[in-house]
Amino acid sequence: MSFFVCDDPQFASYVLGNAPVKQLATGYDWVEGPVWFGDMGCLLFSDIPNNRILRLDDAGVSTFRSPSNFSNGHTRDLQGRLVSCEHGGRRVTRTEWDGRVTVIADSYQGKPLNSPNDVIVARDGAIWFSDPHYGIMTDYEGYRAEQELPCNVYRVDPGGRIEAVITDMACPNGLAFSPDERLLYVADTGRMFSDDPQHIRVYDMVDGRPANGRLFHTIAPGCADGIRLDTEGNLWSSAGDGVHCIAPDGRRLGRILVPERVSNICFGGRAKNRLFITATTSVYSVVLNRKGAQCP
Ligand code: MG
Repeated sequence: MSFFVCDDPQFASYVLGNAPVKQLATGYDWVEGPVWFGDMGCLLFSDIPNNRILRLDDAGVSTFRSPSNFSNGHTRDLQGRLVSCEHGGRRVTRTEWDGRVTVIADSYQGKPLNSPNDVIVARDGAIWFSDPHYGIMTDYEGYRAEQELPCNVYRVDPGGRIEAVITDMACPNGLAFSPDERLLYVADTGRMFSDDPQHIRVYDMVDGRPANGRLFHTIAPGCADGIRLDTEGNLWSSAGDGVHCIAPDGRRLGRILVPERVSNICFGGRAKNRLFITATTSVYSVVLNRKGAQCP
């Protein structure tokens, strides 16, 4: 069977016909938040319901942090440090080189955050994160709690000042900048009204803030959770049947089929061309003929 479905002939040059979608590890409950550490040759990812961050390398899987405060999304900052969204801690943290954990944000206007979900770092060092309510709705992926804030996207500047930069989405989730940081993509996994599509929105970055938000693409089947860009500005998104590749003009170019529902993705590997895929109970990877844009 082929792992790839082309919607546009262009996609055939993005994938490698003899590169498999390979299951690297399995047996978890719901995995998310893959982040690549080339310097250590490992991938970290969250097994959220089991309250742990795992480390995958050539020797296998080991525990990186447990308990993890029900960590979800991760990234690395400009200095290579791990930045994590914690459902349980209702905060975004940075792990310093000596292992100490520093809180980057845990409240807005005096109220606790909901459950930070996905995080990216801009070239100016600002940390952007989404704050939907998934981690406080039940005790499965965190601790059930009352929601005190809307589901916003926040920016924390290098000085620590927090600002709500997107306030009109139902459940903002995955975030990614275009390679030139002129565009911000945000996946909305909620619905403001019952007939709203779960969609990916794109914003122009004007004076460092998102503006002119508009529909970019609607993923089907399933919806977009985690998203990443390649160096040419194509957007790769999680979907119900795998990973979809969307051109900068919003057209779907093709699909990578994965046997489980995909949550998040990240680029990594020796040449930044290996796409790591967290999907329900397993981690997969596939080597592509594209390189990741936001890839340390
Ligand atoms: Mg997410």
